[in-house]
Amino acid sequence: MTKKEQDRVRKILAALDREYGTDYKCYLDHESAWQLLIATILSAQCTDARVNIITKDLFQKYKTLEDFACAKQEELEQDIRTAGFYKNKAKNIIACAKRLVEVYGGEVPRALEDLTTLAGVGRKTANVIRGNVYNDPSIVVDTHVKRISNKLGFTKQQDPEKIEYELMEVLPKDHWIIYNIHIIRLGRTICTARNPKCGECFLKEYCKSVRE
Ligand code: SF4
Repeated sequence: MTKKEQDRVRKILAALDREYGTDYKCYLDHESAWQLLIATILSAQCTDARVNIITKDLFQKYKTLEDFACAKQEELEQDIRTAGFYKNKAKNIIACAKRLVEVYGGEVPRALEDLTTLAGVGRKTANVIRGNVYNDPSIVVDTHVKRISNKLGFTKQQDPEKIEYELMEVLPKDHWIIYNIHIIRLGRTICTARNPKCGECFLKEYCKSVRE
């Protein structure tokens, strides 16, 4: 990366920190690592707001990981119905909880290689856990990160795993976790998928899609 490009990246990250602050809070409500894991499985193709409504009652009903491991598939399906893809998600949650109990002693593992052996857990979910639970530098590539990283000129890739590796080259490690949090906020408010408001965006001065 050229010095000029490094400078541009630094300015973008500084503008995001200035605008949104450097404290971060996960958008999915949870009180433990396994609750965040289940909430993240539910969040596929579903809004975080909807997931938070579902988990408010769900974690009252299923108070432990064992409760999920022993859950009846049809009953859990109904409990999470509004999350969409509920049959698959219920199946994955039960299988994931069983493996956590049987193989990992009820603990959520830290390593990407272990996390991705759990049902319903891909790189994205694994990186949510690594960043939010263990504070391990990790980049979560969701729909906002994919779209906006392309607009900012940080990547030209479309495949989430390739984007993750490119962002690891572009972003300093101390911004790997918070980048996703900031970009989600930007993507929900200003750089929306259908109608990006470039005119009022605090990144317009540095954004490649505007410059070009
Ligand atoms: S300037 Fe436009 S395209 Fe670039 S980040 Fe802002 S809203 Fe998105």
